[in-house]
Amino acid sequence: MKHANVALFVPHNGCPHQCSFCNQRSITGHTAQPVPQDVLRAVRVAKASLGERTKHAEIAFFGGSFTALDRGYMVSLLEAAFPFVKDGTFSGIRISTRPDAIDEEVLLLLRRYGVTVIELGAQSMDDRVLAMNERGHTAEQVGKASSLIKQYNFTLGLQMMTGLYGDTAEGAVRTARKIANLRPENVRIYPTLILRGTELGRKYTAGEFQTLSLEETVSLCASLLDFFESRHINVIRLGLHGSPELEQNLLSGPWHPAFRQLCESRRMLERMKARLQGGHVPHGDAAVLVNPKNISTAIGQKKENIRLLEQIGYRVRILPDASVPEGGFTIYGLKE
Ligand code: SF4
Repeated sequence: MKHANVALFVPHNGCPHQCSFCNQRSITGHTAQPVPQDVLRAVRVAKASLGERTKHAEIAFFGGSFTALDRGYMVSLLEAAFPFVKDGTFSGIRISTRPDAIDEEVLLLLRRYGVTVIELGAQSMDDRVLAMNERGHTAEQVGKASSLIKQYNFTLGLQMMTGLYGDTAEGAVRTARKIANLRPENVRIYPTLILRGTELGRKYTAGEFQTLSLEETVSLCASLLDFFESRHINVIRLGLHGSPELEQNLLSGPWHPAFRQLCESRRMLERMKARLQGGHVPHGDAAVLVNPKNISTAIGQKKENIRLLEQIGYRVRILPDASVPEGGFTIYGLKE
């Protein structure tokens, strides 16, 4: 069953820092701080639209640093949400926060109010990159907070970014390895976008910074996706959600509305190339059988994969075959 979250956004509330890349108001498209009545309203709407499916959904507080909120305000939101977890209407509560806003006392409080999943914004595991982007915490703090979260039996999610100020593609791969070693159940990967009203926006306008291109980011994120899945870590998000505010405030960066699809297509392309070249399939016509659900992933946006395979000497036809498992493929070299 498809997982659903009932998401409430607490933009910037609770943040003791102003990270170089962050303008939560344009990222989330939300400016108002939710109050307990908003939680009740969101739950009512979710029950009306999801029906019984809410049993598999979480009430999620995203967008700020939940555990750094004013304690009374944080508890008021949890108190509004908790009865719906207690009576089984929802499966739990999910929050996102900063690594330096986690300690045993707050974890006990979160557990008491039915929080099940904690996502930490790690962003990088390189202290130099963290400092250059004004994160205000270290990689060691990410490690300590992650261990504590697991020790208290919460589901751990970690978020990382690519293309940060002072980072490189190789640096992002090192971050991914360190994140995987912390054994999160899931990760989110966010390419850096340069937004108006941020320090990176100022640096970009002054000609001091440019992030990775869309092409570089797709190639990097396709390999990160492969890496995390090879370590049995679910990549639950690749790229920011679109919103009119985001598009209005975007100065530069690898934004694409179907970013994950681009990454999955690229990964399929790399696998097809490796199989064709590594398996010594002679240049010429080839047929690739894929699960019907993966046809557009295999073909690529605007038939990009077909075109790129042609450039290395293969005229490929992608054909549906329901017996091929999702994500896999079978290749036949076609002789005249
Ligand atoms: S990235 Fe997170 S911690 Fe940094 S300013 Fe934005 S919401 Fe706050």
